[in-house]
Amino acid sequence: MTIGVLALQGDVREHRSAFGDLGVTTRAVRGPGDLAGLGGIVLPGGESTTLSMLLESSGLFEPLADALAGGLAVFGTCAGLVLLSREVRGGRADQRSFGMLDCVVLRNGYGRQSESFETELAAPKVSAELGVDDTPMAAVFIRAPVIESVGPAVEVLASLVREEEEPQPVVCRQGNALASAFHPELTADRRLHRLFVSMAAA
Ligand code: GLN
Repeated sequence: MTIGVLALQGDVREHRSAFGDLGVTTRAVRGPGDLAGLGGIVLPGGESTTLSMLLESSGLFEPLADALAGGLAVFGTCAGLVLLSREVRGGRADQRSFGMLDCVVLRNGYGRQSESFETELAAPKVSAELGVDDTPMAAVFIRAPVIESVGPAVEVLASLVREEEEPQPVVCRQGNALASAFHPELTADRRLHRLFVSMAAA
């Protein structure tokens, strides 16, 4: 099975190397011709506004939207989560999204670059599905979107728990879409990439 990594902008190399750790072959996706035969595709972190424009200019937006609607497994991280969400707040008026994840997200909701942070999460559902112990999951947030609300079809797989605040979903799944607000490709923890590979293989 080959996993595609959208390679228009953003954390492409890091995602490819994360799948490499798992022995999974990847392909850089730059145009519609690169979609053929993929088992799944990653929409990496970067800038969702820029990615949206490049998806249009590369001619990828419509064929990728069709492939996702047809059930192609997709893993959106950070900006990739924004690209999957039904409603994007704080975006550009002309910014497009695939809208397949019933979430409302606020772009840069955790603040600017200087407010980027690293924390540890509990992810018992992810660990249980993989059959591994639930050790803390390191999570790097860089100008990350806040998931403000999720619809009933969305399964929340991990949340950020902070003192005196409601837990905020940060890993979600709905059908063939997995998404995280943080950057799993920037840490050594491969649980989310493994979970995605199992979704893509299913
Ligand atoms: N703030 C970016 C956006 O909305 C996402 C940042 C990231 O992917 N690290 O597109």
